[in-house]
Amino acid sequence: MTVVAPSKIVCVGRNYVAHARELGNEVPAVPMLFLKPPSAIIGPGEPIILPPESVQVEHEAEIGVVVGTRLRRASADAAERAIRGFVCANDVTARDLQRTDGQWGRAKGFDSFCPAGPAVVGGLRWQDLEVIGRVNGVVRQHGRASEMHFSIPALLSFISAAMTLEPGDLVLTGTPAGVGPLVPGDTVEVEIPGVGILRNPVQAEGQA
Ligand code: MG
Repeated sequence: MTVVAPSKIVCVGRNYVAHARELGNEVPAVPMLFLKPPSAIIGPGEPIILPPESVQVEHEAEIGVVVGTRLRRASADAAERAIRGFVCANDVTARDLQRTDGQWGRAKGFDSFCPAGPAVVGGLRWQDLEVIGRVNGVVRQHGRASEMHFSIPALLSFISAAMTLEPGDLVLTGTPAGVGPLVPGDTVEVEIPGVGILRNPVQAEGQA
């Protein structure tokens, strides 16, 4: 059961300095945007499927933002007011294909590569949010929205200057350091205190 139904999923790369550096990159001068297809969305408890085309699928715990009202060339203030709520999200990535494909559409876009849930929660201050990623109960990632290079309102404003954000659209705001590989049998959790815990098992494709 999915809890989001966006017309598009807009993602931001390299928005935490420590994560950019762990992959050998610097934080970009302007937000680095890419898209995931809505067909990648799965809900809480649904399995992340490891496709045979990749040998290195990794978790990326992220703060997801659900847009409440249409945004086009919005100011940061207007964008902040247009937030419907926040959701735990996992920007699952085939790291090997991300390196070799050049474009990221396949590496980020396999079915099941966008777990989101367990609920969209409004009424929170974005400045207070933090995100924790765990694999099999062990904390691998921990970041705070206040540590982002580009703030959540600034990201929404920047995105809306390129593409209209529709009600329900989902924005993934980048992952903190600590990404790592997933193997069949793992359980991945993304927690945003005040929002909830998103938990997904990991399976190889074709595995029951
Ligand atoms: Mg990401």
